[in-house]
Parts: sequence; structure tokens; C-alpha cells
Amino acid sequence: MSLIPQNLQAITATIVAAAQEAGRPPQSVQLLAVSKTFGPEAVLEAVEAGQRAFGENYLQEGLDKIRSLQEAGAPALEWHFIGPIQSNKTRPIAEHFSWVHTVEREKIAQRLSEQRPAGMAPLQICLQVNISGEASKSGVAPEELAALAHKVAALPNLTLRGLMAIPEPAVEFEQQRAAFARLRSLYEQLRADGLALDTLSMGMSADLRAAVVEGATIVRVGSAIFGSRHYS
Ligand SMILES: *Cc1c(COP(=O)(O)O)cnc(C)c1O
Repeated sequence: MSLIPQNLQAITATIVAAAQEAGRPPQSVQLLAVSKTFGPEAVLEAVEAGQRAFGENYLQEGLDKIRSLQEAGAPALEWHFIGPIQSNKTRPIAEHFSWVHTVEREKIAQRLSEQRPAGMAPLQICLQVNISGEASKSGVAPEELAALAHKVAALPNLTLRGLMAIPEPAVEFEQQRAAFARLRSLYEQLRADGLALDTLSMGMSADLRAAVVEGATIVRVGSAIFGSRHYS
């Protein structure tokens, strides 16, 4: 028997407990199920357990899964792109996803805005921030974040919702918290600066409690729901 429904229940319980610990309403944290490397049948099991938002890192794999789930007659799902973006791959992202968490350059944002089909809701955007310095190559540097955020917020077919980060792995709870606190502080500065942001995309299987305590509004959880990943 599949463990997906009970894993979803356990993660939800962890989120609720962490939110309560932080004095936050549990509904203020959305669970994004990261289904990369797992097939459409795994997604369907999560859908049957009530999950509606899914994250994908690899474009072709994500597009195939979106199509499979539609063909399987699944209810409307919300697909989030959470992987690195090459500039020649922006069009299918703009056409098939509701959210993108990994925007780190103005050029990518411009293309996503231009390529978002007329008649679709604006694409929901998080800027990925490099909060781990040298340890990470991904994400905009904190010093460059404000300029990028104001440019992206002005693009017509995007809605800038907030910030995302993948801190370098840390085992200690307090260390995990410190990284998330840096992202939250950048987010609060942008809000004080007049940007209407409402999303902090942070926390994965191993550090989701620290992320919720520090204000995460979307946690991106893969292996704790679907099991460990095998890359071919
Ligand atoms: C794979 C991935 C996740 C999920 O990671 P787990 O440790 O399996 O929960 C979350 N966010 C991003 C950007 C990922 O690539």
C-alpha cells in the first residue's frame, strides 16, 4: 500500500504544530508537494488524498505530468515551476504553470511576462534569493534584490508574490532558523518599501519546521511525501 496519503497527513500535522508554536494560523502555510522524479500515478494518489498544488523542477518532465494528469481526468491542479530556468525555455513555463519560484534575472521575468498567454491569470512569481553566499550559485544576491523586485513588480503579466530560497543544508534547528530569518528580513524590507508581497517560499522536508516558525507561507516538500528520489 502506498504511504503517500499518510505522509501527507503527517506533514500537515507537522505544519499545524509548527504554526501553532509560532502563534500563526495553520491555514497561513500552504503545502506544495514536490513531485519531481515521481510519476503521474504518485501525483494522482496525492490528488486523491486532497492535495492540489504540485512543484516540478524539470521542464519536460513537468509538462508530461501536467498532460497525464489532465488526461487522467484529475481536478484542476496548481502547478509551480521550482527549477532553474534557461532563457530559451520560458515559453512553455509561461503557458503551462501558475507559479514560478525561481526567477533570479530581469531578462527571464521579461520573457515570462511577454510569453504569458492573453486570457490566463498573471503568472505568480517568487524571486529566488541567494542567502547562503558562496555556498550557492543560485539566486539573486541580497544587495541586488530590491532593484530586481521593483522591475519585476512593474511587468504586466506577472504578479510578484514574494521570495524563495534554498539555504545550504544545516542540521541544527537554530542554524536552519537563522537562514530563513535572513530571507524574512529581506521580505520585510521590500514590504516596507511599498511592494505588496505575501509569500515566503521556504522550507523542505528536512527543515520545514524551522521555516514555518520563521514565517514560511509555502513549504516545498518532496521526499517526506513521495519517498526518496532515484535519479537515472
Ligand atoms: C527537490 C526540491 C524540494 C523538495 O525537497 P525535499 O528535500 O525532497 O523535500 C523543494 N524545493 C526545491 C527547489 C527542490 O528542488
